Amino acid sequence: MMQVAWATDQGSPERRNEDFVAAALGAVVVLDGCGLPLGTDLGCVHGTAWYARSLGTRLLARLTDGLGEAPQAGPPVGPPEGAHRPSRRPLAARLAGAISDVAASHRSTCDLRRATTPAATVLALRVRGDVVDYLVLADSTLLLDGPDILQEITGGHVYAAADPAAAEHAITGTMPRRDLRRAFLLTDGATRLVDGFGRTDWPGLIGMIDEHGPAGLIGRTRDAERTDPDGARWPRNKIHDDATVVTVTL
Ligand SMILES: [Zn+2]
Repeated sequence: MMQVAWATDQGSPERRNEDFVAAALGAVVVLDGCGLPLGTDLGCVHGTAWYARSLGTRLLARLTDGLGEAPQAGPPVGPPEGAHRPSRRPLAARLAGAISDVAASHRSTCDLRRATTPAATVLALRVRGDVVDYLVLADSTLLLDGPDILQEITGGHVYAAADPAAAEHAITGTMPRRDLRRAFLLTDGATRLVDGFGRTDWPGLIGMIDEHGPAGLIGRTRDAERTDPDGARWPRNKIHDDATVVTVTL
């Protein structure tokens, strides 16, 4: 049994929600597209919301490839000459492949060499039999909640963009499923009550989700933001940011 509940909310009516969430049997992905100031030339006709959605759907497809199926016999297939070398870490390799897929899908129309090319944070969780794999890239938060642990994983400063090598910077891990009761996947718009405003701590945040649900946590974050509409108390680039909360119960 695996139960997934989620909510996502756009931060501003002036721009699309650049967070993306998707789940399938055995896998969940959450991405937070990097929102550059409106009017920034990305060198991409598609935009950041498209990038986050495209990378998320391709990653979900690659994560679920082979889940629940018997291993296939036969020699491993290596990358073509000159291609990005696959990571030895399974989820990082799948993320690298998904980044390559997206880059190939718009290289003919867009200039992917620009520093402003669309980019995103990535969270991924996969249940594979008796174990759980996870991946965290850049500043979204994964909370692992088990009988004996409450672990916060943050993933550094490299974002997924057009270069599959970014996947090497992801934090990845595998743990026994029995050691995990729940996992929480959160974009940074949904963790402000802890790491932005100091209103609560991680156990307190989980308590809010338990009491009010994923949407309730976002609602409480919006309530706090509205008490500081100009960012005087809590200086921040965006008064309200896109916010996504996912609860995975195992
Ligand atoms: Zn594009």
